[in-house]
Amino acid sequence: MTSIINGKEIGQEIRKSVEEQVTQLKNQGVTPGLAVILVGDNPASQTYVRNKQKSCEAIGIFSELIKLPEEVTEEELLEQIKILNDRHDIHGILVQLPLPKHINEDQVIATISPEKDVDGFSPVSVGKMMLGQETYLPCTPFGVIKLLEYSGIEIAGKHAVVVGRSHIVGKPMGQLLLQKDATVTYTHSKTPDLPSITKQADILIAAVGRPNFITKEHVKPGAVVIDVGINRDENNKLTGDVNFAEVEQVASHITPVPGGVGPMTITMLLYNTVQSAQKQLSQDKYQ
Ligand code: NDP
Repeated sequence: MTSIINGKEIGQEIRKSVEEQVTQLKNQGVTPGLAVILVGDNPASQTYVRNKQKSCEAIGIFSELIKLPEEVTEEELLEQIKILNDRHDIHGILVQLPLPKHINEDQVIATISPEKDVDGFSPVSVGKMMLGQETYLPCTPFGVIKLLEYSGIEIAGKHAVVVGRSHIVGKPMGQLLLQKDATVTYTHSKTPDLPSITKQADILIAAVGRPNFITKEHVKPGAVVIDVGINRDENNKLTGDVNFAEVEQVASHITPVPGGVGPMTITMLLYNTVQSAQKQLSQDKYQ
């Protein structure tokens, strides 16, 4: 029988332990703080930011929203980040993407201090991740690893196929699986005969951004299928990249959308922010 991986439940369990760490930090006089910078008034970005703030507040993390107008200059934005880099009460800095076209996203992300880069997107964080050094791991792929581990799914020695190679999901996903000793294959829009490769996967990760793209013919019977996609179908219904009804019939484990990978992303953001506060506290103690 197919097992449905419940990201909501696993996320709650992790949040509970993060909340306990928040309480311990507060007992030592430190309130973990996350600053979120939102540029312009993109409705989807506003919703994401609101959800992140609510999740912070629910477990006692201080969150500060810095709203900047669409026409803010790159210099002004970089200046704001530098101020946050220097603030002792802020342990994590997140810039909600996408940014307006006149701003260089790479430059903005590179300006966030690696010690506060709780999204794990900066070149320093990515480099450290590649080298297997201690750093903040990007929240969505980190969340997928946690989902697999909490579900008791062995990663070592398995063939993992990742569909998608974006900087925020596909690429780091493959790296994290590799670090867990999977044999990893990356696929993308130029991959010929995709099903012949995805069918070899013991663990199949879909991060494509196309509703219902992965069908039964892409999946080996008994495979673990993780659906990162968040899309709207033709009826405006929230849909993953995986055709759930079809793939559920062949997979051994599958994540639903919503309620699979989605809740894990914010959970790992909270996790990273609290890790950062803990690191700062131990550095302060030894100074
Ligand atoms: P991108 O659009 O940046 O990347 C999509 C990737 O899919 C690209 O690498 C692209 O290949 C590949 N692709 C597109 N078409 C095909 C195809 N026909 N065959 C094989 N590969 C293809 O998207 P993201 O990585 O940012 O996001 C992917 C999905 O995950 C989206 O639905 C997004 O909403 C969701 N998401 C969910 C999160 C969560 O918290 N659950 C967080 C972040 C994203 P190429 O590089 O060749 O163009």
